[in-house]
Amino acid sequence: MCGVVGIYAPGQDVMSDVINGLFQMQHRGQDACGIAIADGSRVRLHKRLGYVRKVFNKRPADDFQGHLACGHVRYPTQGSNSRANAQPHLVETVSGPRMALCSNGDLTNYAEARAWLEARGVSFAGSNDGELLLRWIAWHHFEEGLPLLEAIRRMQEQVKGAYSACLITLDRLYAIRDPHAIRPLCFGGDGQRWVVASETNALDINRVDQVDELLPGEVISFGPEGMQRHPYPDLPKLRPGWDRSAHCVFEHVYFSRPDSIVFGERSYDVRKRFGAWLARHDSVRGDVVVPVPDSSNAVALGYAQASGLPFEFGLMRNHYIGRTFISPDQPLRDDGVKLKFNPLRSIFKDRRVILVDDSIVRGTTSRKLVRMVRAAGAAEVHLRIGSPVTRFSCYYGVDTPSTEELIGNRMSEEEIREYLTADSLLYMTPEGVRACVDPERSFCMACFDGRYPVALTEDKRSKGC
Ligand code: AMP
Repeated sequence: MCGVVGIYAPGQDVMSDVINGLFQMQHRGQDACGIAIADGSRVRLHKRLGYVRKVFNKRPADDFQGHLACGHVRYPTQGSNSRANAQPHLVETVSGPRMALCSNGDLTNYAEARAWLEARGVSFAGSNDGELLLRWIAWHHFEEGLPLLEAIRRMQEQVKGAYSACLITLDRLYAIRDPHAIRPLCFGGDGQRWVVASETNALDINRVDQVDELLPGEVISFGPEGMQRHPYPDLPKLRPGWDRSAHCVFEHVYFSRPDSIVFGERSYDVRKRFGAWLARHDSVRGDVVVPVPDSSNAVALGYAQASGLPFEFGLMRNHYIGRTFISPDQPLRDDGVKLKFNPLRSIFKDRRVILVDDSIVRGTTSRKLVRMVRAAGAAEVHLRIGSPVTRFSCYYGVDTPSTEELIGNRMSEEEIREYLTADSLLYMTPEGVRACVDPERSFCMACFDGRYPVALTEDKRSKGC
């Protein structure tokens, strides 16, 4: 998870623009947030645990301003939820703080790369992968004396996994994407002001409508000389079979806000196609289509439009409690479903309900919801899922539990249906998903098919894949 934003705007103070960008991406991480800002002579950092509206309810200090900045919202995948692991991270030199970086993704050789740096005397404040990227670049730049772009290239050669990162120096912003382009990263601007972000909604709010995407492995620098694109020089080094992108398809399934254009397509449109695919492959005729809001709204709408069945919001969602999934222990998660959704009885009474959700991970949410809908009077509950069976854990930035905890890994589809107490259950197939996304691009679907584009190191494998 996580979301990053970077802004470069000579002659302007970008603080509130960065905050606005982070607000748009709050759904990508709610545990911590931070901003590093530079004004040509100093880099300042402010980061805390909590929502953007709490951490940045006012300017952290009068001099917390500048014409370039990077910001981050965090959902921990690597490293515990502590302030040290909040991003951005900062490099202090004898002449003061000089560089900051924040990243979205997850590294596959974290332990090995960290040990390499530690052996050379580099110390770490926390255990977060963004910090590792920064320390790697900083060591090659400040200690070895490599030009910054070359130091970034060294990092890209040695550090493996998913990262979409923003780095600032005293007077330049860099956008960096891993060679598989696993996580999204887009940019745009008008020559006066440049914005980089995980999602295009952070560009929309900053009135940027010339939008493009970083290519796999690309680095873009924004500085006094303007914007310069640096294509990745050595793509053929990728794992056999993965010589193009390996975009995370789960961005379309769940993460990205539907109004964002991700991997060249608006997630809203892709999700509607998922729903239409489900409708076309369904042998059951229901009376009403109901989404589990908000992540499956567009999938359910696509289903309803393709099937001609009425669409209703039968479950009201309470927006003031966080994601049920985030709760660290199981009993809390169970209560969370009731706290989060309330059924509208008149919509369910005596109806054959097509209940649509985006994914099933442990099965906790769906089991509770099926029972809730039946208790609200439904005659039948048919569960439709806008993704294939999640069978494998993710090591590239999606917070999935270990493979053993995934219900799709432990049970057959029929056993899952029975466990969830649904009258029927229909998932998409990996081929179905592929038919709904841009055919010109290749996607990572490791959570569904176990084909991992970046080799996993021993410590990752021991997590259970
Ligand atoms: P579970 O109850 O464990 O089956 O979780 C499934 C629910 O969690 C679905 O309704 C999804 O909307 C949501 N979900 C799926 N993947 C994630 C994730 N990585 N982080 C947070 N929520 C998720």
